[in-house]
Amino acid sequence: FPDARTALHDTFGFSAFRGVQEQVVARVLHGQSTLAVMPTGAGKSLTYQLPAVMLRGTCIVVSPLIALMHDQLRSASANGIRAATLTSADSDRMATMDAFRAGELDLLYIAPERASQPHFRELLSSAPIALFAIDEAHCVSEWGHDFRPDYRLLRPLLDAFPDVPRLALTATADRHTRADILSQLGIPEDGLIVAGFDRPNIRYAIRPRDNALRQLKGILQEHPGPGVIYAPTRAKVEQLAEALAATGRRVLPYHAGLDPAVRARNQAAFVASEDMVMVATVAFGMGIDKPDVRFVAHAGVPKSIEAYYQETGRAGRDGDPSMAVMLWGADDFARARQRLTEVDEHRRASERQRLDALAALVETAQCRRAILLRHFGEHPPETCGNCDNCLEPVAVTDATEVARKLLSAVYRTGQSFGLGYIEKVLTGQSDDRILQRGHDSLSVFGIVGPEEAALLKPVARALQARGSLLPTEHGGLALGGNAREILKGQAAVEITIPPPRERRRKQRDSM
Ligand code: ADP
Ligand code: ZN
Repeated sequence: FPDARTALHDTFGFSAFRGVQEQVVARVLHGQSTLAVMPTGAGKSLTYQLPAVMLRGTCIVVSPLIALMHDQLRSASANGIRAATLTSADSDRMATMDAFRAGELDLLYIAPERASQPHFRELLSSAPIALFAIDEAHCVSEWGHDFRPDYRLLRPLLDAFPDVPRLALTATADRHTRADILSQLGIPEDGLIVAGFDRPNIRYAIRPRDNALRQLKGILQEHPGPGVIYAPTRAKVEQLAEALAATGRRVLPYHAGLDPAVRARNQAAFVASEDMVMVATVAFGMGIDKPDVRFVAHAGVPKSIEAYYQETGRAGRDGDPSMAVMLWGADDFARARQRLTEVDEHRRASERQRLDALAALVETAQCRRAILLRHFGEHPPETCGNCDNCLEPVAVTDATEVARKLLSAVYRTGQSFGLGYIEKVLTGQSDDRILQRGHDSLSVFGIVGPEEAALLKPVARALQARGSLLPTEHGGLALGGNAREILKGQAAVEITIPPPRERRRKQRDSM
């Protein structure tokens, strides 16, 4: 498509496509429906904006957030693309509809709830449509981390225009969610294009949280450049922003509870700054184009690995060395697990799996990057040399025997109980449930002594991280991966137990 390169240059001023952009654009220009999974910053918008400029008819873009649409609209208009939004927040809807009917729009951004309205379908029938672009397509999947029921309304609309190709876009879809997006949106399996997820310039570090404020101050001292600190609640944002500003660094808060004018002002100040720190809820970051963010810190665990990847991905878009630090507490997980009980029952299994995967990432002694990339379906090397665990390896313990006992207990109790129960069986603590099921008479009952017992949790985490233990739908543990080889003594299990931070710091100081 030589025309595509010309348009790329003329419309966007870019000399070359990046990564899979060309592949995606070529499919779209051929009229083939596609799901493009591309990390944040990979340039997803271009993959529909360019065809929108080249093809006859309008590209309809479905987007979940009005704020996001308006950002996109601004940047499209800046490139001379004829674009408009059709949302409840727009007062010029009549003019926009007229422009669409007259074929004067390259892009029309809509919110998904509009898709089911009969008069909207009529509107779309009144002028040629080039493409349906579905942004943040993971919202269509209950497996995704951000399910939006309105996205389910899209399918009938898409099916009403069978000749119009569909381009679904997302930055955050694990394998399960991808398969679901394809089937929900009626995209063929061979229409899946996945870009490389590695962000080699981002150094990952995940540390237990002992004193968030002190730890964050330390991070600020080490990183003079612009940074974002994600905090779990608005109150926490306010509190941290105030406490950190007292250090003399320019620090501003950002969350959805702030006055829109203040929010816009803080965001603009951050984008323009070379040293500012934004303390924010996850409301901050979507659609913000600031390539030189030098660090992203999490004051608590994010919602999922997808969210972690997306949020940390806001660091270092310019390719320069950047840092992603997460401070986590066991209570983050306790709270998240508590919330699980409030989730719809049919969604609970996937939510729990997401949480377990996150716990595995947090607790692992393996390469963080390898775990992240494997989560997104890649096959990375075992070590990256640019994460805390690769840079500061901790002592490795052979835990094969404990692992075998653990897996054996999981197996003998029927692969349906959680770790707490398994631990009780192994350490010989009988309670009513155990007695009722006769699990106190299993050969594994009480075979773990006090010293080994301390290894059970870290071993279980390691086994989960490696897929030898898999979460079941009902919160139990089941054998997976190479569990059978471990049981048979054909595979060893080595784990690393990070030493307490204090000790580590002292060791370093004395060097
Ligand atoms: P995403 O939506 O995937 O997070 P964007 O579409 O916002 O990413 O693009 C991220 C940045 O990359 C934008 O500043 C965009 O202008 C830029 N960009 C996209 N494609 C190219 C390209 N082919 N060459 C150079 N810059 C690009
Ligand atoms: Zn690593």
